[in-house]
Amino acid sequence: MNVLVCGGAGYIGSHMVKMLHRAGHEVVTFDNLSTGYRHAVKWGEFVRGDLLNQTDLVKLFQGRHFDVVMHFSARSLVGESVQNPALYYRNNVIGTFNLLEEMRKRKIGKFIFSSSAAVYGNPVTDRIDENQPTNPINPYGRTKLMVEQMLKDFEAAFGINSVSLRYFNAAGADPEGELGEEHNPETHLIPNILKAALGQGPELKIFGDDYDTRDGTCVRDYIHINDLCSAHLKAVEYLENNPGCHVFNLGNGSGFSVKEILQAAEQVVGKPIAHKIVERRSGDPATLVADASCATAHFGWKPGFTDIGKIIATAWDFHSSQVLGRAQGT
Ligand code: UDP
Repeated sequence: MNVLVCGGAGYIGSHMVKMLHRAGHEVVTFDNLSTGYRHAVKWGEFVRGDLLNQTDLVKLFQGRHFDVVMHFSARSLVGESVQNPALYYRNNVIGTFNLLEEMRKRKIGKFIFSSSAAVYGNPVTDRIDENQPTNPINPYGRTKLMVEQMLKDFEAAFGINSVSLRYFNAAGADPEGELGEEHNPETHLIPNILKAALGQGPELKIFGDDYDTRDGTCVRDYIHINDLCSAHLKAVEYLENNPGCHVFNLGNGSGFSVKEILQAAEQVVGKPIAHKIVERRSGDPATLVADASCATAHFGWKPGFTDIGKIIATAWDFHSSQVLGRAQGT
C-alpha cells in the first residue's frame, strides 16, 4: 500500500511510520514540524508542509498516489485547548477539512482518523463503549467529535470510508528504543514522572486528589503506542471489506490512578520519585476507561502490552537512553 501519514513526525505518527515500513508499505510523512521532529521520521519519504496551507497540500498530492491516509496531525492537549480554543478549531477541524477536500478531489477513499476518548466527556458508566453518549467537556474533545461528524457526512455524500479510533491514553515507547515520546514542553503524566525520576524536571505535580475515584486522583486507561499502531493496520484491512464510517475505542480496559502510575513507575526505576499534590487541571474528567471489545470483535485487535509496568519500562528505556546519549554527546 501507499500510505500518507499526516503528522508522522509526532509521537504516535512516528511509531506508525515505523510499523508501516516494517510491514512492507510505502510511506510518505507530511508534517509541519510544529510539535514533531524531523529526526523522528526515519523511514519513507518526508514532505514538510501544513494542512492549513493550500499550496503545501497541492504539492503533496501532485504526482503521488495514496491508497489510504492516516491522520495524526492535531493539537492534543486538553489544558491548552481550554486556554486557546482557536488554535484547536483551526488545526484540528479546518486542517482536517482541507485534507478531506484534497482526498475527495483525488478520489482517495480510505481514511484512518486519530480520535480520542475526550469525545465522551464525563462518562456515565465505569467502562466506556462506543454507544456511550458523546458529550465532550473541553475544546480538544469537541474538535475530535466535529471531525467524526464531518466524516459521517463525507462518507454519505462523497464515499470517503473511514475508521475513527478513539484513543485512551497513549503511553510507552518503541521497544527497540528508536523512538519515544518527546513533547516540548512535556505535559503528559508518564514522561513527567520519568523526567522527575531522572532529575530532568521538577518534582511531579499531581493535578488534584479530590476526584471521586478510589484514591482521589484521576483514573486513565494507558495503552502502549505499538498496540495503538497495530490497530491502525487492522483498521485498514477492516475498511477493505467493510466500507462505511466506523468508530472504535482503543484502550486496555483497565484504569490506573495518577498515584498508581507513580507507584508503578517507582517500581520500574527502583527508587521513590518526588511529587506534590497541586490544584486540578481544568478540563480533566475524573475517570476514562475503555471497553475496547468492539475492536476485538470486528477486526481481531487485542493489546499485547497489558502490564502497566512493562508499558512504563519501554518509556523509561527511551527516556534514560536520551539522557545517557546527551551525556555522551551522541
Ligand atoms: N497528570 C498529572 N501530572 C502531570 C501530568 C498529568 O497529575 O504532570 C494527570 C492529569 O491530570 C490526568 C492524567 O495525569 O488526570 C493523565 O494526563 P495526561 O496529560 O498524561 O493525558 P490526558 O488524560 O490529558 O490525555
